[in-house]
Formats: sequence, structure tokens, C-alpha cells
Amino acid sequence: MKELIDRLVRPEIRALNAYHVPEAAGLIKLDAMENPYVWPESLKTEWLDTLRDVALNRYPDPTGRALQETLREAMDIPSDMGLLLGNGSDELIQMLALTVAQPGHSTSTSLRAGPGVSPAAPLGARILSLDPGFVMYRMIGLFAGMDYVSVPLQADDFSIDLPATLDAIARTQPALIYLAYPNNPTGNRFDADDMVRIIEAAPGLVIVDEAYSPFTDSSFMGLLGDWPNLLVMRTVSKMGLAGLRLGYLVGPPAWLNEIDKVRLPYNINVLTQASATFALKHKAVLDEQTHAIRVERAHLFESLTRIETLHPYPSEANFILVRVPDGQANNLFAHLKARGILIKNLHGAHPLLQDCLRITVGLPKENAALIDALNA
Ligand code: PMP
Repeated sequence: MKELIDRLVRPEIRALNAYHVPEAAGLIKLDAMENPYVWPESLKTEWLDTLRDVALNRYPDPTGRALQETLREAMDIPSDMGLLLGNGSDELIQMLALTVAQPGHSTSTSLRAGPGVSPAAPLGARILSLDPGFVMYRMIGLFAGMDYVSVPLQADDFSIDLPATLDAIARTQPALIYLAYPNNPTGNRFDADDMVRIIEAAPGLVIVDEAYSPFTDSSFMGLLGDWPNLLVMRTVSKMGLAGLRLGYLVGPPAWLNEIDKVRLPYNINVLTQASATFALKHKAVLDEQTHAIRVERAHLFESLTRIETLHPYPSEANFILVRVPDGQANNLFAHLKARGILIKNLHGAHPLLQDCLRITVGLPKENAALIDALNA
């Protein structure tokens, strides 16, 4: 069997490990940027009532029309822009790659920004993003046979290295550029003027990934249409609906019509359509929760700052990146886990993340338990 696997499975896929989600049963879960708040009982009852009428025997509405209408209203989506739904924004990232990938043109190696990268491959072969960043841009590019161009952020504050980024764009001519706004796992929001320079220099699409939009006041949504190559991607995951798996892409209809062609039929199931439509009609409840997370983020940041040996980075997301003393990340991660707290250990994930841990903002009592454990 091994011989057959070696013959049939591409080497770059064989070299991977499947996406690992750590076991979290019984632990305080501060690892995955989830909203820790639940719904009031009365709202749960109302939601369950709406599910009674969902036709499980029928295929879903293929484009999720009712959900689209509710989303447009709830999220202030410009009426002249197209809207495309994905099974999480992960699926939208996959659809984008499938739309522009040019099979056979990948060199199947990760390209690093730097001299020597030949622009010989056609536009469709490359995705460019800034690292440390969201790993799925790279992974999905690899699944689709696209090359990934990685441009490092600045070491001191994770801001954009504009000259290096513009240079990499000019040399590698990426079809897709992802800018996470705010960025994961660093939590900062990039300079909007730098992003505009990138949009204007890009030969292909620029996708501003606003997964963390509930935790910042800035957005590129209102700028859609100013450039023909700008798309905005969002998700309902971080605002409190991670279990539903729903992402959305907004941009010029001509682009979305093309991307829609690679969407699998019925990609948003009936329970997600019904539940998300219901939840977005009660968005005020979620807004209250995300507001509470923002307030808690400030408290947590302050508490982390008070621990002298830690260096927390300012965040406009629902998590905080923390640099710990030299060589201590693994120990601290294990210590917290032993005390029942699961966070994300990023040490070893990227050279700029040496000694870094990422902590999702939890409930006040969970954050207090974390600070107690760190002090211990
Ligand atoms: N973009 C960014 C920047 C993220 O951090 C995440 C989740 N970690 C996603 C997209 C994916 O979100 P989802 O698939 O849950 O919509």
C-alpha cells in the first residue's frame, strides 16, 4: 500500500500532518479565538422554535438567499457589491485558490521573498501573504497546487515591511494577496495606507481578511469598489457563531460571479442557514458579548503587563500575543495546561514568534485563573 500511496499522493501532501486540534475536554479553553459567552435561555428557546420548521429532508436553499439578505443588513454590506457564502472563511480561501490556480505551473516549493525568485511562473501560480500570519493561506495554496510567497513582518511590532512587500509583489506577481486586518496570530492592525499601497501595486486580487472585525472599529468594507481588485472576507466565527461554520466574501459582482462557479452546491447546510439568520436578527446580543470581550481584553492586557517578565503585544482582536522569557514558552504552556488552561503555543511556528504564546480573551473568571496560574 505504501508504494501506491507514494505513487498517487503528491509529495507535498505526504509531507503534511493533518490539521491538529488539541483535546480540550475539561480545560479552560483560551486557544481558539472563540467567544466564551452563551445565549440567554429565552433566546435559546426562541432559536429552537425556529429550527422546528427546518426541512431536513430537503436540500438547502442553494445560495442561502434569506441568510444573504439578513447578513447584508446586519453587516452593512454595500448594496452594489456581491456576496458569497462559505462553509467558514476557510472554504472561501479554498474557493479563491481553486478559481485562480493554474494546474501544472506550481514549483511545489514555498517561495521566500528575496532575490532569486523568478517571475517566470504565470500569475495564477502564487499566493502572497505576510508572516507570521494565518496558516490556511499557505496550506490551501499548497492543496490547490499554488506557490506561497512569504514576506516577513517587521520584527519589533509586526507592522508591514512595505519596501520588502512591494518588492516581492513586483518580482513574484501573485494572483492572490491576503492581508488579515487585524492579523492573526499577532493581533495588530496593519497601517491602512500601507495596505492601499499594496492594493495598488497588486497585479491580482487583494483579500482583506476581517475575521476579527467585531473587535476593531476599522474596516475596508466601506472602501469596496474603490479598486477593482479589492475583496473583503469575514466570518461569523469570532463574534460567537464558530460552530455554525459561516464565512462571507464581499466584492465586485464580476469577481464573485467567477468564484461562485467553484462553490460546491449547497455548501451552507439548512441548520446553519436557519440558525445564522436567527442569530443575526438578534445581533444586539452578540454585539453586547463582543463588547464585553473588548473590555476584558483591556483588563487582561493590563494584568499581563503587570507581570514583569512578560511582553504582551497590543491587540485589536479577541486574543493577545505574549512573549515570555527566553526558552520558557514550552514550560509555561505545559504549566498552564497542568493547571487546566489551554492556550496556543506558537514557539517554533515562525522565527518571529520565538518564545510566544497566544491567549484568547475568555470570561473574566477564566482570565483571572490564567493570571493566577501565570503568577504561580
Ligand atoms: N482568517 C483568519 C485571520 C483567522 O484567524 C481565521 C480563524 N482562525 C479564519 C480566517 C477562519 O475562520 P473561519 O473558517 O472559522 O470562518
